[in-house]
Amino acid sequence: MDYNNLSAFGEVREYESMAGHVTLGVGGAARCYFRPHDLDALVASMTKIPSEIPLLVIGRGSNLLVTDAGFDGVVIDLASLQGISLDGTLLHCQAGCRMSQVAARCADAGLAGAEFMATVPGNIGGGVAMNAGAFGHQFSDILQRVALLHRDGRREAVAADALKMAYRHSVLPTGALVVGAEFELQRDDAEAIRGRIRAMRTKRGVSQPLAQPNCGSVFKNPPGDHAARLIEAAGLKGERCGQAQISPQHANFIVNLGGASSQDVLHLMTVAQRAVKLQSDIHLEPELKVVGSWCEQ
Ligand SMILES: Cc1cc2nc3c(=O)[nH]c(=O)nc-3n(C[C@H](O)[C@H](O)[C@H](O)COP(=O)(O)OP(=O)(O)OC[C@H]3O[C@@H](n4cnc5c(N)ncnc54)[C@H](O)[C@@H]3O)c2cc1C
Repeated sequence: MDYNNLSAFGEVREYESMAGHVTLGVGGAARCYFRPHDLDALVASMTKIPSEIPLLVIGRGSNLLVTDAGFDGVVIDLASLQGISLDGTLLHCQAGCRMSQVAARCADAGLAGAEFMATVPGNIGGGVAMNAGAFGHQFSDILQRVALLHRDGRREAVAADALKMAYRHSVLPTGALVVGAEFELQRDDAEAIRGRIRAMRTKRGVSQPLAQPNCGSVFKNPPGDHAARLIEAAGLKGERCGQAQISPQHANFIVNLGGASSQDVLHLMTVAQRAVKLQSDIHLEPELKVVGSWCEQ
C-alpha cells in the first residue's frame, strides 16, 4: 500500500515511534500513523486501506503498549474527533473527547453520572472499548448507544447492550472503530458534582504514581481480590527490569524511569504473573492491551 494516499484525509507519518503516543512512553514504530482531519475524512479513508493491512485505533494510549518490534499496519489516532453536545440529559460525544473534559462539561451542565471519568486519562472511544471505570462506576452504567465505523466504511449505531460490557471488557464487532457514544445522565447540583470530582482526584493523587509515565492498572483485579495486593504479597514492589519498575507506591502500576523498553515492561509483567501464581495460585489477567507478540504466562 502507498500510505501517502491517506494524506488527502489527514496527517500521515511513516515509521512513527509509538512511544510518543502511549502514556507509558515505550514502544516500537508504527509502519503508518494516521490522524484523520475529521469524521468525514476518516469514513472516506477507510475504503483506501486494503483489508489485509492491520489497523490499530488509539485514543490517549493510556492502557496500551506496542512491542519493541512495532506495528506493521496503520495506527489511527482519533484525537480530532472532538464533537460534544447535550440534548436534555443525553450527552453525545465523539470518540476523541477526553474523559476529563467530558466530566467537566457534565459538571458545568449540572449532569451527574460521569464524575468517575475525571480521573481516567483516556478518550471516550478507549473508554467504551475498555468499559473504563473508577470508584464503583463504569461506562456501562450510563452508556446508551455507540456509533461504529466498519472497515468497509459502513456506519452503524448499536445499543450499548450489544457490546456485552463487563469489568474492563467490551465486545466490539471485529475491526469496528468506535466513533461516538451517547450517555444518559441525571440532573444534580453543579457544585455537588464538582465536589465529588475533587474528592476522587485527591484520592488518586495519594495512591497512584501519577508523576511518572505509567499505563494505569497493568492487571485486572481477580474476583474478590486486588492485583496490587497480590503483587505486593509476592514481594515485588519496587522490582526493576532495565528502566521499568513495579511502582513502590502502587504494585499494580509499572512506571517508566526514563528510557524503558516495551520488553522491560513485558518482562516485569511475566515476573509478576509467575510470582503471584506461585504464591497465591491466581492467574493475573492483563488489563493493559499489548499489541504484538508476547507470551503471556
Ligand atoms: C494514571 C492512569 C490511571 C488510570 N486509571 C484508570 C481507571 O481508574 N479506570 C480505568 O478503567 N482505566 C484506567 N486507566 C487506563 C485507561 O485510562 C483506560 O483503559 C482508558 O479507557 C483507555 O483509553 P484510551 O483512549 O487511552 O485508549 P488506548 O489506551 O489508546 O486504547 C486502549 C484499547 O482500546 C482500543 N480503542 C481505543 N480507542 C478506540 C476506538 N475509538 N474504537 C475502538 N477501540 C478503541 C485500543 O485499540 C486498545 O485496544 C488509567 C490509566 C492511567 C495512565
